[in-house]
Amino acid sequence: MLRYADTDVVFQEVPDEVSLAISIAGCPNGCPGCHSPHLLDDAGPMLDAAELHRLVECCGSGITCVCFMGGDAAPEQVRALALGLRELHPHLRVAWYSGRQLLPQGFDTSAFDYIKLGPYVEAQGPLSSPTTNQRMLRRRPDGSWDDITSRFQRRGPLG
Ligand code: SF4
Repeated sequence: MLRYADTDVVFQEVPDEVSLAISIAGCPNGCPGCHSPHLLDDAGPMLDAAELHRLVECCGSGITCVCFMGGDAAPEQVRALALGLRELHPHLRVAWYSGRQLLPQGFDTSAFDYIKLGPYVEAQGPLSSPTTNQRMLRRRPDGSWDDITSRFQRRGPLG
């Protein structure tokens, strides 16, 4: 069972979307220099379909996207939650921030509109860094994926 540490409404994690970001606990990735060590413990409220629905309802019409931050210990559970969102809230886009370089072989990505891949490497920086190892992908209408990482690196000095 997935658990989550916290939630927030964010504007920069997914380009052009106002996202309910849900930080999933129990991260197994162990990146050196981890920027979110509070996510390493598998602690917090359970994140099942009912709780996800409640969190989305709390946001009302103020969001356009739900972004799962983490969940690499149980990718199929993240996918199941994403599929449930598609059914109950079909107007919302669904994003997933994975810390893996690659998703499990044969993993069905059709429940997601955006997927971020790649562990955090301190020396290379996050998505906004020109040297980042991470990639943000956006699903095209034909089901293929577009690399939109450069969208994070076009911001001017005022962000
Ligand atoms: S994926 Fe994120 S939370 Fe997990 S170890 Fe790496 S930096 Fe920390």
